[in-house]
Amino acid sequence: MAECIFCKIVRKELPSNIVLENEQFLAFHDINPKAPVHILIIPKEHFDSFQEVTPSTMEGITPFIQEVAKVLGVDSSGYRLITNIGENGGQEVKHLHFHLLGGAKLKWEHLADSNPKANL
Ligand code: AMP
Repeated sequence: MAECIFCKIVRKELPSNIVLENEQFLAFHDINPKAPVHILIIPKEHFDSFQEVTPSTMEGITPFIQEVAKVLGVDSSGYRLITNIGENGGQEVKHLHFHLLGGAKLKWEHLADSNPKANL
């Protein structure tokens, strides 16, 4: 995917603030952090979203994410892991990524913009 910005980050054609990297996965700071710790974790292989990812990639990324949490020092204090999928999920970058958010007690509020009952 030549035009995918996260593929460009993988190929080092765009800069990023890297936290952890191996042959298959990359973790880097989100450019617009929404928490004191806000890291994006991606497979280097392009998948449009979680909906397309293979089980073997998910198996590999799990210990990688756990290691990122340790490197950032949030493994004990806790963190939130989010992946947005498609339009209703609010996904802006169409390369599978997990947001790891932490470093503070995070809010958990009603997440939809509109009243969900309005559609009933
Ligand atoms: P999403 O809305 O789930 O697709 O999230 C995309 C995320 O990518 C947002 O939190 C952006 O701030 C972040 N982002 C976009 N471009 C870059 C970039 N060049 N470096 C780091 N983070 C980025």
